Amino acid sequence: MHEVEAYIGLGSNLLDPQAQVSSAMQELNSIPETNVLKVSSLYISKPMGPSDQADYVNAVAKISTNLSPERLLAELQGIEQSHRRQRNSQRWGPRTLDLDIILFGDIQMDSKTLQIPHYGVTEREFVLIPLQELQADLIIPGKGEVEELIAELPPYELSRIENNNG
Ligand code: ATP
Ligand code: MG
Ligand code: MG
Repeated sequence: MHEVEAYIGLGSNLLDPQAQVSSAMQELNSIPETNVLKVSSLYISKPMGPSDQADYVNAVAKISTNLSPERLLAELQGIEQSHRRQRNSQRWGPRTLDLDIILFGDIQMDSKTLQIPHYGVTEREFVLIPLQELQADLIIPGKGEVEELIAELPPYELSRIENNNG
């Protein structure tokens, strides 16, 4: 595999979400053959799905990696496990850490375990806004320009956390 630039979406709403996301940003550097190039600010968003859960902290990291998408996903799931993520039957329920592959170079794929670009990217302001912060002229393969996708979003609530040095 040659070196590819990829974008990872981070999210948490349990057990000090800011700390979960900030430390996970660092931990991405410990993935073999992978380096963090740039990280967005942290943002606070309202939960998707069940509303009886805390607000989320979200961010996006830009990485370079020599891993395949499948191996990268396995590494990300390892980091989720180390943050003691518990998967239960509730879709979009509270979690200590979620790490999703948003983009992987210009790859478009749809397998049993991986959809890239991430299927939710066009509707999720907590992904699009940090993506735009990292690269304003980004184009999402098969979906369009980040700026245009943001312009098409319904009204949303997202606040940037100041003083994030990460
Ligand atoms: P959503 O995918 O809607 O953001 P989620 O992140 O809470 O929900 P998870 O429980 O973290 O969902 O992941 C469920 C499965 O999604 C994973 O086991 C993985 O195989 C699959 N998946 C498909 N595409 C991706 C992707 N681009 N990044 C991460 N996981 C993905
Ligand atoms: Mg997710
Ligand atoms: Mg996930």
